[in-house]
Amino acid sequence: MEILFLGTGAAEGWPGVFCQCRCCEKARALGGKNLRTRSSVQIDGEYKFDLPPDTYHHVLTHNLNLADIRHLFITHCHEDHFYWKELAMRGRPFAHRRSEAALHVYGDRWVKETAAWQELSNAGLSFHEVEPGGSYQAGEAWLYPFQANHLEDKGALIYVFQKDGISLLYGHDSGFFYEEVWAELSRFHLDVVVLEGTHGEEDVWDNHMGIPAVIRTRERMLETGIASEQTVFVATHFSHNGGLLHHELEERLNPHSILVAYDGMRLEVPRRD
Ligand SMILES: [Zn+2]
Ligand SMILES: [Zn+2]
Ligand SMILES: [Zn+2]
Repeated sequence: MEILFLGTGAAEGWPGVFCQCRCCEKARALGGKNLRTRSSVQIDGEYKFDLPPDTYHHVLTHNLNLADIRHLFITHCHEDHFYWKELAMRGRPFAHRRSEAALHVYGDRWVKETAAWQELSNAGLSFHEVEPGGSYQAGEAWLYPFQANHLEDKGALIYVFQKDGISLLYGHDSGFFYEEVWAELSRFHLDVVVLEGTHGEEDVWDNHMGIPAVIRTRERMLETGIASEQTVFVATHFSHNGGLLHHELEERLNPHSILVAYDGMRLEVPRRD
């Protein structure tokens, strides 16, 4: 399995579009791994998590053609994760595709209600409304959604994604997981865990996470057998308000065996089946 981190920033990007804070000015000066577009991950060229407003930038930067994506998993209806208007560009006259195969889009009822689907009617989409606790086949993969600790008035999902014998948790946006979710995760043994580090060093546990919550999540997964020392942990979705640049995030997280994602990072995980 190849996991490509297309973007690793929070809603405003880093540097923030209009921001002049110390961390954004430093990121502008240093460049490289400190530049973070809105978060998304592509897997094996066919599967993608979230559709941020920086999608076109990702296409150009990584020489992608999104016509190859067959399954798009949306975590929640925040615009940095579901910029649905981009999907209209899949229909004529904006796109001329060689295959009429549908793009399967998965999301909860809030995601469904966010998009104006009549504007996407010729984009060749097939929407699948998913619910926490369900299980869904997506091509050669299986998808298991769970309730995220995020967006309390509506809903948000984290997903376990299984393919080639590998189990990956796409675990953001979310604060520390709800107890029901911990119970449900106990039936998995995760090979890759993607968490968020939105708040940097801050002691935030609800809605988003700071580093103490990320570290505790890994510890608890190891204690409960949901993960092992071989499990690859990655933190992503960083905000400038967290106050830590890339190398500072690595100083805090690497000693706990947690990788710090950056735009363009690729992870190769050997198949397990
Ligand atoms: Zn977000
Ligand atoms: Zn800033
Ligand atoms: Zn969000």
